[in-house]
Amino acid sequence: MSKKDTIAFEDRIVGFPQLGNYGIAIAEIAKLFGKKVILPPPITKRTIELGTKHSPEGVCVPFKYNLGNYIELVEKGANCLIQAGAGCRYGYYGEVQKKILADLGYNVQFITLNRVFDILGVYKKIKSVNPRQNAWSFGKTMVLVISKLWAIDAIEDICRKNIGFEARIGHIEGLFRAFLAELTAASTLGAVMSVKRKYSRLIASVPITKPYRPLRVGVVGEVYILMEPFSNFYLEKTLGKMGVEIHRFVDVTSVIWDSLHWRSYIKRQVKKARPYLTYDLGAHGTSSVAISNHLMKQGFDGIIHIKPFGCLPEINAMPMLNRVSRDYHCPVVYFSFDSQTSENGVKTRLEAFYDMLVFKRKKKRKI
Ligand code: SF4
Repeated sequence: MSKKDTIAFEDRIVGFPQLGNYGIAIAEIAKLFGKKVILPPPITKRTIELGTKHSPEGVCVPFKYNLGNYIELVEKGANCLIQAGAGCRYGYYGEVQKKILADLGYNVQFITLNRVFDILGVYKKIKSVNPRQNAWSFGKTMVLVISKLWAIDAIEDICRKNIGFEARIGHIEGLFRAFLAELTAASTLGAVMSVKRKYSRLIASVPITKPYRPLRVGVVGEVYILMEPFSNFYLEKTLGKMGVEIHRFVDVTSVIWDSLHWRSYIKRQVKKARPYLTYDLGAHGTSSVAISNHLMKQGFDGIIHIKPFGCLPEINAMPMLNRVSRDYHCPVVYFSFDSQTSENGVKTRLEAFYDMLVFKRKKKRKI
């Protein structure tokens, strides 16, 4: 055990990696690990450069982004880092990142919550590094964390579906920023619920000009790339603003809920993915096929599949997605992200995808 494995609770300055807008909620649970919490700095080019420089060549980008985040957090003063993961090789990344940080001379305490699938497991982990933690305050914190995550997902969903149709550009984004600020300050379940209700109402009352049958696109793929907009160059917002209703079914709330009963969830997903799948593909590969199959039956105009370069579960899903696309005559476009992906390339392909959707609709005489 290194010296830093024994940092006292009062001296711990806790950091965790960036993941979309969820930092507000994750910070609440991070407070149980140490006296002070540092929010991850926004991801920049430097973050990915740092992560890439010190990562093994073949790892996927979530590893690199997280490692870049950790280095920047340590530079800001963090001496205790949290990592959580499961599903695929991500579940083992914490151990490798811990070793890399030690080799770089960063003498920090590294707490991994890998493959901890239940609330009791999280409690035990916190108790092991903070023996004074009691079940009551842990329970209260978890309620606050989960309600904040749920509120973020619910409001983001409304934004995704409406941002392309607002009468005044920037109106919804402005409200979303205000929502995040108020949610940060909310410290009880009641306060979270009232912030969520307030902004659901405010965003619903934004004047929009949405056609009766708007273009609808489903976004599926790997969870990290789906949930961290910087890593996908804000793909959903870019396409949404062209005048498309964006639907996404995988978010933190769904990931937490599904992981509580993972086996039965996977069974259901395989069933939904029939006749294209018989076995689980690992991580969220099966869900990508199941959701796409479902959306095409609903008459969606197109599917966007996004994944980090080299992500095996999602690579395995692609042949099935091609078959779904062929059977339903519905386009699927694939985006693969790594540290070299060009933002302009993504934008150009999105514009071409949008033009194709409009063209297909016109052909069907639906708009
Ligand atoms: S799902 Fe894919 S990209 Fe994500 S951590 Fe696993 S292998 Fe990497």
